[in-house]
Amino acid sequence: MLTPTDKIWHNGRFIPWADATIHVLSHVVSYGTSIFEGIRCYSTPAGPAVFRLREHVRRMVDSAKIYRMENLGYSAEQLGEAMLELVRVNQMESCYIRPIALRGYGEMGVNPSNNPIDVYIACWSWGKYLGDEALAEGVDVCVSSWNRFAPNTLPALAKAGANYMNSQLIKMEALANGYSEGIALDTSGYVSEGSGENIFVVRDGKIHTPPLGASVLPGITRDSILALARELGIPLVETIIPRELLYIADEVFFSGTAAEITPIRSIDKIKIGSGRRGPVAEKLQKEFFGVINGSRADRYGWLTPVHAAVGA
Ligand code: PMP
Repeated sequence: MLTPTDKIWHNGRFIPWADATIHVLSHVVSYGTSIFEGIRCYSTPAGPAVFRLREHVRRMVDSAKIYRMENLGYSAEQLGEAMLELVRVNQMESCYIRPIALRGYGEMGVNPSNNPIDVYIACWSWGKYLGDEALAEGVDVCVSSWNRFAPNTLPALAKAGANYMNSQLIKMEALANGYSEGIALDTSGYVSEGSGENIFVVRDGKIHTPPLGASVLPGITRDSILALARELGIPLVETIIPRELLYIADEVFFSGTAAEITPIRSIDKIKIGSGRRGPVAEKLQKEFFGVINGSRADRYGWLTPVHAAVGA
């Protein structure tokens, strides 16, 4: 269950958590008309800091543009600043931040253009998404019987509410069958992504990840892994991946804001590699978490401090 924080940001004002409600006839309720983000604020040795704030805000603005929400009413800078202010107002050390822009109450009917755009930002405490042990031990997953959406149906590059009806089918089926997550294929039958994670496949020391054309969300964590792999000199290709490469891989792992870097130890009950976290995932985790825990320099400027540096 969610533990409420004090305030939620709504159209430029802080309102009590309990007041952040919408009318049942808001456009979003019938038609799924929302775009949103999921962002982590980590507790770091230098205080709370938001991971890749700029990139998340940019993806939110991109998602809005794809859905012709031309004007959210707030610039990227204002949205980013509102997120930092929200964390400060709620006095969080670490949290998950969820900005949402939705089409609200007004007309009924498919055309959203005359419905107001409401922007909300909430934050709350959230632990490890796939379980505390998952990062070290890995998770057991399946290939989903559900595909990701076909190209030119629902835009996969947008992080839109409606997309997550597909994610829910993938996730519910996986859980019903005793797995912690499902891997969806695209409509050509190639590996796409998890219900809320991008995927990486390692064989013979080389990392493979599906390209953006394989109906994947352009994950910010995915992008972080591309940067770290380049720096570590680990070859990485963005390429279509046949399903069966999953089974014969040395390592497979998920990436995502919630999942961070989560190794996969079995797929469809077939053991992957040694059946535990592999060396590539471990190396990437070390670099990734190193930036957050301060054991590695933040050389890419990934962390935005929540509290302005004293004297800055
Ligand atoms: N794919 C999907 C479908 C997702 O929901 C997410 C989580 N936002 C990801 C991939 C990973 O993206 P990110 O690393 O930006 O969280």
